[in-house]
Amino acid sequence: MNKKIIIAVDGHSSCGKSTLAKDIAKHLNYKYIDTGAMYRAVTYYVIENKLYEGKIINEEALKKDLDAGKINIDFRYNPELKQSETYLNGKHIEREIRGIEVSNLVSPVAVIPFVRKKLVDLQRAMGKEGGIVMDGRDIGTNVFPNADLKIFLTADAEIRAQRRYDELKAKGEDVSLEAIVKNIKERDYIDSHRETNPLRQAKDAVLLDNSHLTMQEQAQKAIKLAENILTRNMH
Ligand code: C5P
Repeated sequence: MNKKIIIAVDGHSSCGKSTLAKDIAKHLNYKYIDTGAMYRAVTYYVIENKLYEGKIINEEALKKDLDAGKINIDFRYNPELKQSETYLNGKHIEREIRGIEVSNLVSPVAVIPFVRKKLVDLQRAMGKEGGIVMDGRDIGTNVFPNADLKIFLTADAEIRAQRRYDELKAKGEDVSLEAIVKNIKERDYIDSHRETNPLRQAKDAVLLDNSHLTMQEQAQKAIKLAENILTRNMH
């Protein structure tokens, strides 16, 4: 029986990491874990409980609630949509965490070291059996530095913004392209410059720029990489 591997997909904001990670997971019949959704869920909690002012987070209050076990995140499979969805303390929050309000506050929340520690511990526990595709910013560099396959995905910022704009518009959200460009550039900057586990390409990651690739093309490339490793492991 083939060993189930760990696949890390990291990269910039809104470049299709989750689409790619889901495609690989589906092909290999692996579990997919969206770590961005976990940072978004904590951010949603911060917003709901007004633990912030502007972009300043009330870290003391947040730490207290995290330590008291008041922030419980889990993923549940939705058989109708055939995808797993994010829950916070038992409440379905999939739609809420994708909006611009959460997007604008998530990077400041994700720089906080105790938030990262908590979520990274959870991510390691979720992936320890292998057979997973996990996407995020620090999976190949920090969460699973020994992942069997690491992909670093990127694309032009303007192209990423246009894709995200089209996606939110299709969902009926009232957003402007300028606001999305600004949000994406701001998140790239904060994610790459933070002190704890910044976004960077792991030395042994394969770089994939999908600016001019279709989703099918990027999936084909990644699946080939994964299959090469699985075949190599058999010998
Ligand atoms: O992947 P997504 O865009 O949903 O992630 C939202 C935010 O969560 C990112 O901009 C980043 O600030 C943070 N994040 C992170 N580490 C991860 C995943 C996401 O810091 N592993």
